[in-house]
Amino acid sequence: MTAPRFANLLFSGRCNLRCPHCIGRQLPGPDVDNLELYPPKNLDLFCHLLRERGIRELSLTGTNTDPLLYRHLPELIAALRRRVPEVRLSLHSNGLLVLPLVHVVNRCHRLALSLPSFDPDTCLAMTGRRLAIDLELVLQRVQVPVKVSTLVTPHNLAEIPAIVARCRALGVRRMALRRLYGDETPLDLLPGQAPVRFFGNQPVYDCDGMEVTVWRFEQSALECLNLFADGFIGDRYLLAHNRPPQAEAA
Ligand code: SF4
Repeated sequence: MTAPRFANLLFSGRCNLRCPHCIGRQLPGPDVDNLELYPPKNLDLFCHLLRERGIRELSLTGTNTDPLLYRHLPELIAALRRRVPEVRLSLHSNGLLVLPLVHVVNRCHRLALSLPSFDPDTCLAMTGRRLAIDLELVLQRVQVPVKVSTLVTPHNLAEIPAIVARCRALGVRRMALRRLYGDETPLDLLPGQAPVRFFGNQPVYDCDGMEVTVWRFEQSALECLNLFADGFIGDRYLLAHNRPPQAEAA
């Protein structure tokens, strides 16, 4: 195990999408809604641990919700920038509220945008809504670097080369193709390409200047400090592995 280099501040509550593969459906632990709570429980201890462990990357994300649904996000971002100024904030969003709340997004250091597909029917199968996220407009309005993250499922598998090519054409610089947890099926997602390096055991490709990482979470060598919605702090990369069995049963 390596010392954590990254951290997650996790929200929990009602989401504006209904994705069948949402990690929140698989997580043990109490079902807490912290979308209205300020400050998040155990924020003081979490900030102390960020400083003590020299962690420089913090993701604002959700176990089962979108962080842009957190009512106090502007105050939280301001507090984090004041209390742990050396930590870069990455906002992970499904994109629905990115444009309406772009002034909040731009207070972070970068945006990780989940984009299942450019096809609204595929999005319907993967998220429960016929989405049509205007990535071009997002890239125009968001003033911080945008990383696109695409979960690979049987619904969008055939579209992956086209999704990668379109993201590249729109000027995206970094992309992640995330394999379904536990899916061992060999897939050649980037035909004819070889990794140029590995990051945390994950292969990284150069697609005409766009960096594409193919993530298989169960193979990751990274560790991550996690603040859960109920205040529990764990340091395992896989969210489901953070709580000891006795906590899961409580
Ligand atoms: S958008 Fe994210 S948090 Fe919301 S249901 Fe989908 S996977 Fe879960």
